[in-house]
Formats: sequence, structure tokens, C-alpha cells
Amino acid sequence: MHLFASLPLTLLLLLLPLLAFAAEDYYKILGLDKGADDRQLKKAYRTLSKKYHPDKNPDDETASQKFVEIAEAYDTLTDAETRKIYDQYGHEGVKQHKQGGGRPGGGDPFDLFSRFFGGGGHFGHGQRRGPDMEVRIHVPLRNFYTGADHDFKIEKQVICEKCEGSGSEDGHRDTCHKCNGQGMIIQKHQLMPGIFQQMQMQCDVCGGKGSTIKHKCKTCGGARVVRSEEQFDLAIEKGMPKGARLTYENEGDESPDWVAGDLVVHLHERDPELGADDSERTDGTFFRRKGLHLFWREVISLREAWMGDWTRNLTHLDGHIVQLSRKAGEVVQPGHVEIIEGEGMPIWRHEGNGPSHGSLHVEYVVVLPDQMDKNMQKDFRGVWEKWRKKSGVDLHKDSGRPDPTHDEL
Ligand SMILES: [Zn+2]
Ligand SMILES: [Zn+2]
Repeated sequence: MHLFASLPLTLLLLLLPLLAFAAEDYYKILGLDKGADDRQLKKAYRTLSKKYHPDKNPDDETASQKFVEIAEAYDTLTDAETRKIYDQYGHEGVKQHKQGGGRPGGGDPFDLFSRFFGGGGHFGHGQRRGPDMEVRIHVPLRNFYTGADHDFKIEKQVICEKCEGSGSEDGHRDTCHKCNGQGMIIQKHQLMPGIFQQMQMQCDVCGGKGSTIKHKCKTCGGARVVRSEEQFDLAIEKGMPKGARLTYENEGDESPDWVAGDLVVHLHERDPELGADDSERTDGTFFRRKGLHLFWREVISLREAWMGDWTRNLTHLDGHIVQLSRKAGEVVQPGHVEIIEGEGMPIWRHEGNGPSHGSLHVEYVVVLPDQMDKNMQKDFRGVWEKWRKKSGVDLHKDSGRPDPTHDEL
């Protein structure tokens, strides 16, 4: 409240617009509005600091600058006191508060980063790297056809936010009294009189960490990490192959001791099922995919197969209609496969000329009537006899097998 008290009012009025231009708004840097809560702040910091980390943007000055700004913005807004000052007096207010013996500045942005992600604040070489995490996600075939955006959640190990990975309630760690901070102890065994074996062992008091905690963090119980369910965005691209791998860099299990490995998602096709809503109940459920091509089985009646004169509307995976038809007199043989170009799977990341889709293979299955009454039999037989004599095919002669030379009896 005393910040600008010493400045003449006119000077203050001149100064304010200047200050507004000098540095960008902290909320804007984090992409948040003024009402953002702690969780949103943390989430924004996590996403942005990783995106603009200098290790990921080598030789990019703008990114480095952004990385520092993001750390500064988060550091200011995450503290209730400095946030209040910032909301009221802006950048200059915070600066004066810090100079005036308030909370010391955030200091090293890499330090802040390591509290979130471990690994000493760097992704660089020489850092220990945690294991990659692999998950399988099954999505319906229609998602591979149209492309889709989904959310998914996985449970993973994250650095405890409460103690920022220290494991300590008060942030304080004591040097281990047994190993003096070495994490290792030397044990002497007597093998024979006068002959000793020296063995280096992990310190059993501190578990090799070199330090102990008096007041353990209540959230993680001193483990420094907790299990947490995290949400990710799953962007399925049109025509992605089955088993496609999507890598989420450094989103594997976190630990203060390492740089998080990657989260790798394997995209698989969900078994066909009849869904609950209309879009899922389309014929699309019955398409099968083989690489670029789609396969479909169409059932037609004997009359249709034989006489033609029919039309079918096939609802494709995205809801568009593919029409199948035969003119009167066009015969379809059972098992016949009709290939329709351009109605298969979209070609993944297709560019330029050339076909953009594979083909659709329609296999015809002919169903014979399961009933035939006496008169019907007579009628059909009459028709058949008439036409067999005229233009029937002799199946035996056609088969090329030798004639039977004599009767058995
Ligand atoms: Zn903790
Ligand atoms: Zn120890």
C-alpha cells in the first residue's frame, strides 16, 4: 500500500502506462484469466515450461526468454501474497515488494522446473532418465477413418506437489548420522583371524539418500512422489495405421532423481460392437480394415443375385452413403468381390496427387430361400427345364473329368 506513496501523482500517472508495456501480463503469459486457481496455475506451468525449455529449443532466444518469463509468472502468482500485490500494483509492485525484504525472488527458473519434473531442471545429456511408459489404447475403426480427438487418463507417478519433491513437511532434510551424507557405509567382515573383507553397502538408515527427514511430508509420507491420475489429449489422425505409436515426451513416471521418460501410446482398433447411440449403430461397425483397404460383406437374396434390379445404400464409417446396385438381368455370383476404388481407408498424411484412399472390397453372400412350397417347386422346375435345354451349361463336360466308362452294376 505504501509503494507509490513517495511518488507525485502526476509522475505515477505517467509511469503506469509505461510499466504496462514493459512486461507482459503474468496471467497472459500463462494463458489464464485472473480467477485461475492453484491447479490451473500448476497445469499451465507444467505444459508451458516444458514446451519452452531451452533444452528443447536450442539456439532459440525467444524460447529461453519465454521459459524465464513463465517461471517468473508462476512464481509470483502461486504465492498468495505476491499474487495479491501483483493484482493490485502490477509488475512494479512485486519488484518493490521483493526489494523491500518480501519473499525473495524465484531465482533460478531451472530450480523451479526441477521441483516439477526432477532431473535437476534439465532434459540434457548426462541426466539420469526414468523408464518409458507404454500404454495401449483401443479406439473404434471409425476414429481411424475420420480422425478424432479424445482425452484419456492414466495413473502415473508424479513429484509430490505439496513438498515439491523434498519429502519433508518443512522442506528441511538432515544429513544422515550413520553415513555422514555419503549414502554408503563400509562394513568389515573377519574371514579368518587377521584377514578382513571390506564391503561397501547402501546405508540402511537413509536408504542411500544421504539425508533423513524429521518431519515427513503428510501427502507423500516422505516418498517424494505420489500416484496421480493425469489427463492427456489423444489426437488420432485420419488413416493412422493400427499399432501407431504416439510419443508424449517426458510424460512418463516422474521422480526427483531422474528426468521423466516418455509416455508412449500404442493405438489399436477396438473390437466391433453395437454402440448405444445412433452414430455408433451405423453399419460402420461391420467394416474390417486391412492396411489401406476396407472389407464389407453384403448379403443378398437368391432373387437379387439371379435377377438383378436392386439397390443398397451402405452407410460408410463417416456416415456418407455408398450405393451398390445391379440392373435387371445382372447376375451376382456367390462370393463375388466387387472392388470400389476410393472408398477404403484414407491414406495417412496424404499429400499431392495420387489416390487419397484405398479401396473397398464388397463380398457378396447369397442366401437361398429356406422354404419352398409344392407349387413353387413345380413352377421353378418348369422354368429351369425349359432354359436348361436351350442354353444350360453341362457341368460335367465343363469340369474336364473323364467320362465314367461303365456302370457299377
Ligand atoms: Zn510430499
Ligand atoms: Zn545414511
